[in-house]
Amino acid sequence: MAGRPRVPVRLVSWDDVVEWSRGLARRVEESGWRPDLVVAVARGGFVPARLLCDFLDVTNLLSVQSQHWVEAARAAERAILKFPYTVDASGLNVLVVDDIVDTGETLALARDFIAREWKPREVRIAALQWISSVAKVRPDYYYLEVREWVWFQYPWTRLEDLQQFILRVLREDEKLAGRVVGEEELRSVFVEWYGVRPEDFGWYWGEALERLVRRGDLERTPQGYRLASGRRG
Ligand code: AMP
Repeated sequence: MAGRPRVPVRLVSWDDVVEWSRGLARRVEESGWRPDLVVAVARGGFVPARLLCDFLDVTNLLSVQSQHWVEAARAAERAILKFPYTVDASGLNVLVVDDIVDTGETLALARDFIAREWKPREVRIAALQWISSVAKVRPDYYYLEVREWVWFQYPWTRLEDLQQFILRVLREDEKLAGRVVGEEELRSVFVEWYGVRPEDFGWYWGEALERLVRRGDLERTPQGYRLASGRRG
Protein backbone atom coordinates (compact mmCIF):
# COMPACT_ATOMS: atom_id res chain seq x y z
CA MET A 1 0.00 0.00 0.00
CA ALA A 2 1.31 3.42 -0.93
CA GLY A 3 1.79 5.99 1.83
CA ARG A 4 -0.13 6.70 4.98
CA PRO A 5 -3.88 6.07 4.82
CA ARG A 6 -6.14 9.14 4.78
CA VAL A 7 -7.80 8.09 8.00
CA PRO A 8 -5.45 5.74 9.83
CA VAL A 9 -7.39 3.12 11.75
CA ARG A 10 -6.22 0.77 14.46
CA LEU A 11 -8.46 -2.23 14.82
CA VAL A 12 -8.82 -3.03 18.53
CA SER A 13 -9.66 -6.56 19.67
CA TRP A 14 -11.55 -7.58 22.80
CA ASP A 15 -8.29 -9.04 24.12
CA ASP A 16 -6.59 -5.64 23.66
CA VAL A 17 -9.40 -4.05 25.66
CA VAL A 18 -8.96 -6.46 28.56
CA GLU A 19 -5.17 -6.06 28.55
CA TRP A 20 -5.31 -2.26 28.39
CA SER A 21 -8.02 -2.04 31.07
CA ARG A 22 -5.95 -4.29 33.32
CA GLY A 23 -2.94 -2.03 32.73
CA LEU A 24 -5.02 1.04 33.48
CA ALA A 25 -6.30 -0.53 36.71
CA ARG A 26 -2.70 -1.18 37.74
CA ARG A 27 -1.84 2.49 37.26
CA VAL A 28 -4.72 3.47 39.53
CA GLU A 29 -3.69 0.89 42.11
CA GLU A 30 -0.05 1.98 42.05
CA SER A 31 -1.04 5.59 42.69
CA GLY A 32 -2.45 4.57 46.06
CA TRP A 33 -5.72 6.40 45.37
CA ARG A 34 -8.88 4.32 45.70
CA PRO A 35 -12.11 5.15 43.87
CA ASP A 36 -15.40 4.54 45.71
CA LEU A 37 -17.48 5.18 42.61
CA VAL A 38 -16.69 4.65 38.94
CA VAL A 39 -18.54 6.73 36.34
CA ALA A 40 -18.54 5.51 32.74
CA VAL A 41 -18.80 8.18 30.08
CA ALA A 42 -21.35 6.73 27.65
CA ARG A 43 -21.03 5.25 25.34
CA GLY A 44 -17.30 4.69 24.84
CA GLY A 45 -16.38 4.38 28.50
CA PHE A 46 -18.82 1.59 29.34
CA VAL A 47 -16.68 -1.48 28.79
CA PRO A 48 -13.44 -0.09 30.26
CA ALA A 49 -15.36 1.26 33.28
CA ARG A 50 -16.99 -2.10 33.92
CA LEU A 51 -13.64 -3.86 33.68
CA LEU A 52 -12.02 -1.32 36.01
CA CYS A 53 -14.75 -2.08 38.58
CA ASP A 54 -13.86 -5.74 38.34
CA PHE A 55 -10.10 -5.20 38.50
CA LEU A 56 -10.24 -2.59 41.29
CA ASP A 57 -13.01 -4.24 43.30
CA VAL A 58 -15.39 -1.32 43.02
CA THR A 59 -19.14 -2.04 43.28
CA ASN A 60 -20.52 1.45 42.59
CA LEU A 61 -20.88 2.15 38.86
CA LEU A 62 -22.85 4.96 37.25
CA SER A 63 -22.79 6.59 33.85
CA VAL A 64 -23.17 9.99 32.27
CA GLN A 65 -23.70 10.40 28.56
CA SER A 66 -22.01 12.94 26.37
CA GLN A 67 -23.03 14.08 22.94
CA HIS A 68 -21.33 16.23 20.38
CA TRP A 69 -23.19 19.23 19.00
CA VAL A 70 -22.42 21.04 15.82
CA GLU A 71 -23.14 24.64 16.73
CA ALA A 72 -23.14 26.12 13.25
CA ALA A 73 -22.17 25.02 9.79
CA ARG A 74 -18.49 25.75 10.20
CA ALA A 75 -18.12 25.91 13.96
CA ALA A 76 -16.15 23.30 15.86
CA GLU A 77 -18.10 20.54 17.58
CA ARG A 78 -18.82 20.98 21.23
CA ALA A 79 -19.57 18.29 23.76
CA ILE A 80 -22.59 18.48 26.07
CA LEU A 81 -24.01 16.11 28.68
CA LYS A 82 -27.29 14.58 27.57
CA PHE A 83 -28.93 13.82 30.91
CA PRO A 84 -27.32 16.07 33.52
CA TYR A 85 -28.78 14.37 36.61
CA THR A 86 -27.44 14.94 40.08
CA VAL A 87 -26.22 12.41 42.63
CA ASP A 88 -25.06 13.00 46.20
CA ALA A 89 -21.45 11.83 46.04
CA SER A 90 -20.26 13.64 49.14
CA GLY A 91 -17.31 11.92 50.76
CA LEU A 92 -16.64 9.73 47.71
CA ASN A 93 -13.65 9.45 45.44
CA VAL A 94 -15.00 9.34 41.90
CA LEU A 95 -13.15 7.94 38.88
CA VAL A 96 -14.59 9.05 35.54
CA VAL A 97 -13.68 6.67 32.72
CA ASP A 98 -13.74 6.97 28.94
CA ASP A 99 -12.17 4.94 26.16
CA ILE A 100 -9.95 7.69 24.76
CA VAL A 101 -8.96 11.29 25.34
CA ASP A 102 -8.70 12.85 21.89
CA THR A 103 -9.56 16.56 22.14
CA GLY A 104 -10.27 15.85 25.82
CA GLU A 105 -13.47 17.88 25.75
CA THR A 106 -15.72 15.02 26.75
CA LEU A 107 -13.82 13.85 29.79
CA ALA A 108 -13.08 17.39 30.99
CA LEU A 109 -16.77 18.24 30.68
CA ALA A 110 -17.86 15.16 32.63
CA ARG A 111 -15.22 15.77 35.30
CA ASP A 112 -16.16 19.43 35.79
CA PHE A 113 -19.87 18.64 35.88
CA ILE A 114 -19.46 15.89 38.48
CA ALA A 115 -17.12 18.00 40.62
CA ARG A 116 -19.56 20.90 40.60
CA GLU A 117 -22.93 19.13 40.83
CA TRP A 118 -22.22 15.86 42.67
CA LYS A 119 -19.80 17.39 45.17
CA PRO A 120 -17.59 14.35 45.71
CA ARG A 121 -14.45 14.36 47.83
CA GLU A 122 -12.33 14.15 44.69
CA VAL A 123 -12.76 13.42 40.98
CA ARG A 124 -10.09 11.91 38.77
CA ILE A 125 -10.24 10.92 35.12
CA ALA A 126 -8.97 7.84 33.32
CA ALA A 127 -8.84 6.60 29.73
CA LEU A 128 -7.27 3.69 27.88
CA GLN A 129 -5.65 6.09 25.39
CA TRP A 130 -4.43 9.64 25.56
CA ILE A 131 -3.64 11.41 22.27
CA SER A 132 -1.06 13.71 23.78
CA SER A 133 -0.38 15.66 20.59
CA VAL A 134 -3.91 17.07 20.37
CA ALA A 135 -5.60 16.72 23.78
CA LYS A 136 -6.34 19.80 25.86
CA VAL A 137 -6.25 17.76 29.06
CA ARG A 138 -4.02 15.02 30.33
CA PRO A 139 -5.97 12.33 32.17
CA ASP A 140 -4.87 11.45 35.70
CA TYR A 141 -4.58 7.85 34.50
CA TYR A 142 -4.07 6.45 31.00
CA TYR A 143 -2.60 3.25 29.65
CA LEU A 144 -1.24 4.25 26.22
CA GLU A 145 0.08 7.61 25.15
CA VAL A 146 -0.56 8.09 21.43
CA ARG A 147 1.50 10.73 19.61
CA GLU A 148 0.40 10.24 16.03
CA TRP A 149 -3.36 10.57 15.63
CA VAL A 150 -5.20 7.39 14.73
CA TRP A 151 -8.82 6.26 14.96
CA PHE A 152 -9.10 3.44 17.50
CA GLN A 153 -11.76 1.16 16.16
CA TYR A 154 -13.01 -0.37 19.41
CA PRO A 155 -15.01 -3.60 19.22
CA TRP A 156 -18.13 -2.05 20.80
CA THR A 157 -18.63 0.34 17.93
CA ARG A 158 -17.56 -1.83 15.01
CA LEU A 159 -20.79 -1.93 13.05
CA GLU A 160 -21.46 1.77 13.51
CA ASP A 161 -17.92 2.81 12.52
CA LEU A 162 -17.81 0.48 9.54
CA GLN A 163 -21.02 1.94 8.11
CA GLN A 164 -19.59 5.44 8.47
CA PHE A 165 -16.28 4.40 6.92
CA ILE A 166 -18.04 2.93 3.87
CA LEU A 167 -20.27 5.98 3.38
CA ARG A 168 -17.34 8.31 3.69
CA VAL A 169 -15.36 6.54 0.98
CA LEU A 170 -18.33 6.59 -1.39
CA ARG A 171 -19.04 10.25 -0.70
CA GLU A 172 -15.53 11.64 -0.70
CA ASP A 173 -13.26 9.51 -2.83
CA GLU A 174 -12.69 11.31 -6.13
CA LYS A 175 -12.37 8.08 -8.14
CA LEU A 176 -15.75 6.77 -6.99
CA ALA A 177 -17.87 9.91 -7.09
CA GLY A 178 -21.37 9.60 -8.51
CA ARG A 179 -21.24 6.09 -9.91
CA VAL A 180 -21.86 2.45 -9.18
CA VAL A 181 -18.89 0.83 -7.44
CA GLY A 182 -18.25 -2.90 -7.58
CA GLU A 183 -17.58 -4.55 -4.24
CA GLU A 184 -13.99 -5.47 -5.15
CA GLU A 185 -13.17 -1.86 -6.01
CA LEU A 186 -14.90 -0.66 -2.85
CA ARG A 187 -12.75 -3.05 -0.84
CA SER A 188 -9.50 -1.86 -2.38
CA VAL A 189 -10.32 1.85 -2.00
CA PHE A 190 -11.35 1.11 1.61
CA VAL A 191 -7.82 -0.19 2.30
CA GLU A 192 -6.26 2.96 0.78
CA TRP A 193 -8.40 5.15 3.02
CA TYR A 194 -8.13 3.32 6.32
CA GLY A 195 -5.09 1.04 6.14
CA VAL A 196 -7.16 -1.94 7.33
CA ARG A 197 -8.82 -4.58 5.15
CA PRO A 198 -12.54 -5.32 4.98
CA GLU A 199 -11.78 -8.97 5.77
CA ASP A 200 -10.22 -7.89 9.07
CA PHE A 201 -13.78 -6.96 10.11
CA GLY A 202 -15.11 -10.49 9.54
CA TRP A 203 -18.91 -10.74 9.33
CA TYR A 204 -19.27 -7.05 10.20
CA TRP A 205 -18.42 -6.04 6.62
CA GLY A 206 -21.40 -7.78 5.01
CA GLU A 207 -23.66 -6.73 7.85
CA ALA A 208 -22.64 -3.06 7.48
CA LEU A 209 -23.42 -3.10 3.73
CA GLU A 210 -26.72 -4.83 4.41
CA ARG A 211 -27.74 -2.19 6.95
CA LEU A 212 -26.77 0.70 4.71
CA VAL A 213 -28.98 -0.74 1.99
CA ARG A 214 -31.83 -1.40 4.41
CA ARG A 215 -31.60 2.10 5.84
CA GLY A 216 -31.76 3.62 2.38
CA ASP A 217 -28.24 5.11 2.38
CA LEU A 218 -26.98 2.76 -0.34
CA GLU A 219 -28.53 1.21 -3.41
CA ARG A 220 -27.47 -2.26 -4.46
CA THR A 221 -27.39 -2.95 -8.19
CA PRO A 222 -26.13 -6.05 -10.03
CA GLN A 223 -22.86 -4.16 -10.71
CA GLY A 224 -22.30 -3.00 -7.14
CA TYR A 225 -23.22 -0.18 -4.78
CA ARG A 226 -23.96 3.49 -5.14
CA LEU A 227 -25.09 6.22 -2.79
CA ALA A 228 -28.86 6.52 -2.73
CA SER A 229 -30.13 9.53 -4.61
CA GLY A 230 -30.52 12.50 -2.34
CA ARG A 231 -27.83 11.16 0.03
CA ARG A 232 -24.79 11.99 -2.00
CA GLY A 233 -23.99 15.29 -0.29
P1 AMP B 1 -12.91 13.81 22.77
O1 AMP B 1 -12.47 14.42 21.50
O2 AMP B 1 -11.76 13.55 23.71
O3 AMP B 1 -14.00 14.63 23.43
O4 AMP B 1 -13.52 12.39 22.38
C1 AMP B 1 -14.90 12.16 22.33
C2 AMP B 1 -15.26 10.70 22.12
O5 AMP B 1 -15.16 10.42 20.74
C3 AMP B 1 -14.33 9.69 22.79
O6 AMP B 1 -14.81 9.37 24.06
C4 AMP B 1 -14.41 8.51 21.86
O7 AMP B 1 -15.52 7.69 22.15
C5 AMP B 1 -14.58 9.16 20.51
N1 AMP B 1 -13.25 9.36 19.88
C6 AMP B 1 -12.63 10.55 19.73
N2 AMP B 1 -11.45 10.41 19.11
C7 AMP B 1 -11.30 9.07 18.88
C8 AMP B 1 -10.26 8.27 18.29
N3 AMP B 1 -9.13 8.81 17.82
N4 AMP B 1 -10.45 6.94 18.22
C9 AMP B 1 -11.60 6.38 18.67
N5 AMP B 1 -12.60 7.06 19.25
C10 AMP B 1 -12.47 8.41 19.36
